[in-house]
Amino acid sequence: MTSNEKIPVWLEKYIEAKRFSEDVERFRRVSIIEVEEFISSLRTVYWNAGRGRRSPRSRELARLEQVYRRVYEYLRVLASLPSTRFMSSFHRELVESIIGERYNRALARIRRARDRIRRFYLDYRLLILSSSNAKEAARLRREGLGRILSVFRELEEDIEIVQRVRKEILGTHIISEGLPVVIVAGIPNTGKSTLVRRLSSAKPEIAPYPFTTKNIVVGKTVHKGTPFYLVDTPGLLDSPIEEKNVIEKKAVVALRTVADLVLFMVDPTDDSVVQFESQVRLFKDVKTINKGVNTLVVFNKIDAVDREKLERMMAEFSRGASVDVNSIVTISALYGTNVDTLLDRIVSEIYSSIVRKWSSKRVEASM
Ligand code: GDP
Repeated sequence: MTSNEKIPVWLEKYIEAKRFSEDVERFRRVSIIEVEEFISSLRTVYWNAGRGRRSPRSRELARLEQVYRRVYEYLRVLASLPSTRFMSSFHRELVESIIGERYNRALARIRRARDRIRRFYLDYRLLILSSSNAKEAARLRREGLGRILSVFRELEEDIEIVQRVRKEILGTHIISEGLPVVIVAGIPNTGKSTLVRRLSSAKPEIAPYPFTTKNIVVGKTVHKGTPFYLVDTPGLLDSPIEEKNVIEKKAVVALRTVADLVLFMVDPTDDSVVQFESQVRLFKDVKTINKGVNTLVVFNKIDAVDREKLERMMAEFSRGASVDVNSIVTISALYGTNVDTLLDRIVSEIYSSIVRKWSSKRVEASM
């Protein structure tokens, strides 16, 4: 494929989903022991390595080699983890925005340390081999191991960073199948979780949301042959962006990379000015954050409001938020009124969002 050629969005999604699962798999395979704990475990390795060796030189060599092998293997595994450049865009955006360059720098330092440790080992191996007596061999072994372990100890912080990234990446597996993702937003009590529960074919799953103390709730459903996820994000997409801490802000932004559609839920039952304004303001926030993602406004709780008030609220919202009033869907999540119409709209919006992304997306690099 030449550069600037479009790739079909299904392929793009497939690649992203594949990368997403690969990231998760790679981090899952690695188990990270704390530096000091690991160093303590090396004592046994050290003692066992020296056992049964008659010649002092071969004893010291075996000690040096066994300890080196363990440390090298530990770092080799960490160094094989992907830097953000090679991650799925969801993971990349998350890690880069929250840990920043520190993760990539940590990986680079780990790789350099791995190479330095290898050089120390090779140098001291030669020195021990050419040592003239037991005392000298022991001194060289001590010196060699001392250097190896001191380089290793300096990595403590870097290893902690990688550990943190690992923990968070493993928490995101729930949205890794590459299906369309519909994110539900709206101020608290508008009925988001009621809707996600009603539309999900099974009980929604609760998963930790990376880098935050929040959880996301993921429901899965199929409508007219189109499967998709519905994601409720309590505490993330229900309050003004300026009230969030930096980490939450960035985590919210990362959602954009997986979202195909945002459902914005509005509660028309309380028509106080404060409530109304906070809904309009949040809508604008959510639109800004999710630039490029289709948004569908849903007025909920129509069972609890009379027609006239509902129409007035819709007209006001449409003016305040600059939304076409005819595009608003009205439902009762509690009683299931109009949810089939909503599902039809969701599916058609998913397709139109896919087509839009498809026609605007150009591939930078040739494949
Ligand atoms: P969330 O905070 O946006 O997730 O809101 P919830 O789903 O927890 O709903 C908040 C309250 O609104 C609960 O008491 C729900 O039972 C109620 N609720 C949700 N949907 C409807 C609806 O369609 N009609 C009515 N009357 N109440 C609803």
